[in-house]
Formats: sequence, C-alpha cells, structure tokens
Amino acid sequence: MSPRARKRRVGLTRLSLYVRDQRGRMALLALAAAFTSGVQVGGWLLVGDAIDNGIRAHDTTRLDLDVAIYVGVNAVAWIVGSFLILGLAQLGQLIVLRLREHLFAHLTTLSLRYFSEQRAGWIISRITNDVDALSDVLSEGLSTLVGNVLTLTGAMVALAILDWRLALATLVILPPTLVVARWFQMRSHVAFADVRTRISALTAQIAESLAGMAVIQSYNREGEFRKQFGELNKANQRSNQHAQNLSSLFFPAIELFGVIATVAVLALGSRLYEDGTLTLGTLIAYIGLLSLIFQPLQELSELYGQVQSAAAAMEKITRVLDEQTEIASPADARRIDRVDGHVALEHVTFAYGRDPVLHGIDLDIPAGSCVALVGMSGGGKSTLARLVGRFYDPREGAVRVDGNDLREIDLVHYRRQLGVVLQDPFLFAGSIADNLRFAAPAASDELVEETARAIGLDRVAARFSEGLQHAVREGGSGLSAGERQLISIGRALLADPRILILDEATSNIDRPTEVLIEKALDRLLHGRTSIVIAHRLATVRRADEIVVLDRGRIVERASEAELMAAHGQFAALARDLAAPAPAAVD
Ligand code: ATP
Repeated sequence: MSPRARKRRVGLTRLSLYVRDQRGRMALLALAAAFTSGVQVGGWLLVGDAIDNGIRAHDTTRLDLDVAIYVGVNAVAWIVGSFLILGLAQLGQLIVLRLREHLFAHLTTLSLRYFSEQRAGWIISRITNDVDALSDVLSEGLSTLVGNVLTLTGAMVALAILDWRLALATLVILPPTLVVARWFQMRSHVAFADVRTRISALTAQIAESLAGMAVIQSYNREGEFRKQFGELNKANQRSNQHAQNLSSLFFPAIELFGVIATVAVLALGSRLYEDGTLTLGTLIAYIGLLSLIFQPLQELSELYGQVQSAAAAMEKITRVLDEQTEIASPADARRIDRVDGHVALEHVTFAYGRDPVLHGIDLDIPAGSCVALVGMSGGGKSTLARLVGRFYDPREGAVRVDGNDLREIDLVHYRRQLGVVLQDPFLFAGSIADNLRFAAPAASDELVEETARAIGLDRVAARFSEGLQHAVREGGSGLSAGERQLISIGRALLADPRILILDEATSNIDRPTEVLIEKALDRLLHGRTSIVIAHRLATVRRADEIVVLDRGRIVERASEAELMAAHGQFAALARDLAAPAPAAVD
C-alpha cells in the first residue's frame, strides 16, 4: 500500500473510533441496508419469475403471488430505507461533532511553539472547512455509499448466478471501467487535495488581513491585500474547476459503459432466447439488474469527488491530531498544591530554532522576592519568563520551583498557582467582570467588586454606564491600553497566584491611569514571587534584585544602588528610564 493510501486508511480508521460506542446502532443500520439492497435486487428476480412462470405459463396464482410479494416487500423497504437514511445521517453528524470536539480539545493542549509556527487561519481552516468537507460526505454520502455498494455487490452476484454467459459478456466492459476509475481516482485525489490547500490559504489570508486591518489601512496597503486575496480566490476557483472537470469526464464515461454493457447483453441475450437456452423473464431481469450496477456506479462516482475531498481534509486534520503535545505532565507527575515560590534556573540553554537565545542561565529567585529583568530588545527577557511559566522547556539545564524540575510536576496544578500579565493583555468578549473572573470563575460578585476597588478599577469602570458589566469586545479593542493592563492586573490579583510573571506595558499611558497601575502593582507584587520584565524606573525600584540580560546572557545582577554605582549597562539604561516620557528600555 502506498504511504498516501495508508495515511488515508489511518484517517478513516480514526473516524470509526468516534462511533465505537455505536456498534449496536451500526449493526442495525447494516441490516437495514442489506435488506433494502436485497429488495432492489430481488425485485428484478421477481419480475423475471412473474414473466416466465406467471404470464407466459398462464399461471395467474403465481403472478398474483409475485405481485403481492413485490408490493409488500417494497412497502417495508420504503419505511426501512427512510430510517436508514436518517440513521446514517445521524451517525455521520455524530462523527463530525466528536471530531470537532477532539480537534479543538487537542489544539488546547498544544504548546505555544505550535501556535507561533502555524498561521492562525490555517488552523481555523482545519476545524471549519476541513471538518465541513467531511460533514458533507458523512451526513448524505454515507447512505449513498452503503446502499450503493451493497446493491452493486448484490446485483453482481445475482447476474453471475442468473446466467454465466451473459455475465461473461458483461465482464468485457469491466477492464476499461476499472482503468478509467483508477485514472479518475489518481487524478481526483491530487485535485481535491489541492482544493483543500487553496481554501486553507484563502482562510489564512482572511484571518491575517482582519487581524492586521488597522496596519493595512494606516499604510494604504488595501489594494495590495485585495490583489493578494483576488489571486488566492482565483486559484481556489481554478482548483475547484479542475476537480469538477475531472468529474464531468468520469461521470458520462461510466454512463457510456453502462450503455455498451446493455447493448452487449441484448445482442447475446436475444440470440440465446432464439436458441431457446434463455427465457424472456431472465433476459428482462438481467437488463433490470444491469441498471442496478451502472446506476450505483454513477452515484458512487458522483460521491467519489466528495469522498476524495473528505479524504484530503482528513489527511490535513490527521496532521493536527498527530501533532505531539510538547509540553505535558508525565504520568507520574508530582502534584504540588501550594508552592512556596522558590524559582531557580540552572544552566538553562534554550533555542526556538537552531540557534540558542538563552545561554547557560543561572538564576535563583527566593520565594516571595521580586526580580526585575531589564535589557535591550531581543535579549531574552520574555523567553526566560516563558520558561518559568513552562510554555517551553529548556534545551539544556532545568527550571526548578521549590527544588522540583518543572518537567516533573503536574502542569495543571502548577499553572493554577501562576499568574501572567502580558504586555498587551488579551481580553475576551464579555463584561469587564467576566474578564476579571477569567482565572477564578467561581469568584463571587462581592470578591470581584472588592478586587476592582482594591486596584481602583471601579473608578475606571464608573466611566461606563454599566460599570463592571460594561461589554468588552474580543481582544479588548474597545478599551485603552491602560484600561486593558489594569483589568489584566485585576485578573491576576483575583487568581491570587504564588508566582507572578509580569511583562510591563510599554505604551504611553496617561498619568492618572499610570498612578492607578502603580498602586495596583503594589498590591499584585506583594507576598508572592514575581518576575517582572520592567520598562519603568518605578517598577525596577520595587525589585529586590535587577537582572540585566544581553543577547541571552546575564551580564549584571544586583540591587539598584549597586548597579548604579557600577556604571555598567544598567546605569546607562536607567538614564533612559529616568527620561520624562515613560520611556521603554527596549
Ligand atoms: P523584548 O523586550 O523586545 O520583548 P526580549 O528581551 O523579551 O525582547 P525575547 O522576546 O525573549 O526578547 O526574544 C529573544 C530572542 O528570541 C530574539 O532574538 C527573538 O527574535 C527570538 N524569539 C522570540 N520569540 C520567538 C519565537 N516564538 N520563535 C522564534 N524566535 C523567537
């Protein structure tokens, strides 16, 4: 089996895992499918019998019996058929539901490295377009597939049993049919894989354009982006057209083979009838059964395009599902319900790609103390903070909390005791109160209000008519940078973490909000270990120790007074920090 075919089979096997608990229902549906297909095939055999042993033998009792069985069985088949279509559609939708759930759940476990390396739109495409492609096939196609495959098989068996000479004549048409089907199979797989890639590229471009619309408009690049979109859209349309062209060639070809087979059977059958070795009923039943081969073949070939598209989609989905979770707790992870907060980096070397961005870092942060990281842009401050949060693992050395290697302790429990305030905090659609509650969903209204009051957020919220219930848009786009930072500080304070990582905002914030933030930070930093990427002198001064990072190495570390006296890198940076505008170090 080719690697590609194997991959496709693995994909399909994976789908069956989602309905493992539905075996009873599937067995029932298989029985129903076998029954309806059997009725179709048996119907033509009854017609043959009615002609030969009823009409031609002038046996009206036999004829009446055949007609009664035909009507009765078909009536039951009609009811069973409706249940079959419904049942298969439900089964298909169940697979889609569970696949989407699994896909999203898996995405939430992947490490930050994955998300920083993939385009957001590409990931969105997996969970929307690709799952939709599967949904199309599974909800409608499953009944077409099961019904037709069974009918086709049943009809072929019946043809072989009915008359082997006519079966041989029909077989003549088989080799060219198989060749054309194989040709279509190979071409259409490539074509439909291409369709999926193009739609992903289009979705990725839409996601990126929407996220960057402010920048696009600021620099008058709308035209460029429209052009780019136009090209991707066109490529997508061309790719779809090509796939359709293939189907439009294949479909009539199968129809033509059906006609040729019927003509061959008629030519040979009429001779055999003349010779008296074939009855009229058998010949008519045979021609009827032939339609049960070529009609399913047509329907299956129509479905084939969809199945190819779904297989291509499943291949892309499988790639996401196979993505290993880089950051996970081991099975025997130690659970630490309450850490003291002693953080130590031991000879830590780290690289995102090939070249290290942190080189042999040794840093000891006693429980409850505050370390300020300063240094030029790209020095590795955020990277160091990410390692403490275990968003990445070091390449060499270890990050320890209370003496435990982070890779050996339970991540969920650890993160529960970790607070992170980002430079440009992300807020979710909902109210300000919802965002405060993000890390502590069970917090009471009173506690939320008390936290807001403690950091002066109540006064900021009072500017809005609905106060803390003011609706925040996704990303916090309706709020100022200062307001966002304050909400994010409140969020961390409510979570009451043992270890705090704070990446101070660099944007210009008006003086009153800045004063509020300073006070909020006093509250937030009190009584816990904190690692602060500092951009303001006031924040640096709060720290027990200042660590200067330069190109991934610690070049200075001491108290502010000692570093000022040393006239090194920090002293130079501090001069910039002391500048009237809230200058950024980097
Ligand atoms: P800044 O103050 O500007 O935020 P920093 O001191 O925090 O800078 P880092 O963000 O830690 O510096 O970056 C250190 C180095 O790692 C830089 O050279 C940067 O280009 C690189 N880097 C940061 N994030 C990634 C990433 N996700 N993938 C690859 N390289 C990265």
